[in-house]
Amino acid sequence: MTKRLIFLGPPGAGKGTQAKILSQKEEIPHISTGEILRAAKEQGTPLGQQAKSYMERGELVPDRLMLDLIRERLSRPDAHEGWILDGFPRNVEQASFLEALLKDLGQSADAAINLDVPDHVILERLLERGRDDDTAETVRRRLEVYREQTAPVIDFYRDRGLHLVNGDRPPETITADLQALLNHHAS
Ligand code: AMP
Repeated sequence: MTKRLIFLGPPGAGKGTQAKILSQKEEIPHISTGEILRAAKEQGTPLGQQAKSYMERGELVPDRLMLDLIRERLSRPDAHEGWILDGFPRNVEQASFLEALLKDLGQSADAAINLDVPDHVILERLLERGRDDDTAETVRRRLEVYREQTAPVIDFYRDRGLHLVNGDRPPETITADLQALLNHHAS
C-alpha cells in the first residue's frame, strides 16, 4: 500500500518533526521543500542563490523555481512507493500544479493533514527554534505569508481528504493519531 501524505499547517506547527518520525516508521521519503532549499543555499547552487533572499525575508520562493523542484523530486524512483510532503504546497497555485503533476505521474495524494496550533504557541516555538531565518521580523513575515497565501490551501483540500489534527499536544500523542489515520487509509 503506497502512502502519500501532504502536511499543511503554519510554520512551527511541528510538520517537520512529525513528518520525519512518520517517514522513518513508514519507510517512505520525507520531502521537505524548506530542507531542499536550505541545502541548495548552503551548497551555493543556482537554485540556492536564487532562493536565498526570499528565504531570508520570510517570503515564498517564486513558483517558477518551486514547481521544477517538486516535479524533479517526485519523479525520482524513491518517491514511487509513497512520500510525505512537508512545506509544499504553500499557495493555491502550487496545490493545483501538484494535483496535475500527480495525475501525470499516475499518483494521487491519500490525505492532507492540517496541524493546527494557536498563534501564541507558534511564536514561542519559532523564536526558540533559532534557525537563521527565525529572527523576530522574519517570523512575523512568515506568519503573514502563511495567513495570506498558505491558509487558503486548506480550503483546496477540504473536499480532497482533509484531516484536522490538533498540533498543540505532546509530540508522541500527535504521532499516534497520525499513525492511526495512516493505517485507516491503508486498510
Ligand atoms: P520551511 O522549512 O518549510 O519553513 O521553509 C523555509 C523557507 O523556504 C520558507 O520560508 C520559504 O521561503 C521557502 N519555501 C519552502 N517551501 C516553499 C514552497 N513550497 N514555496 C515557496 N517557498 C518555500
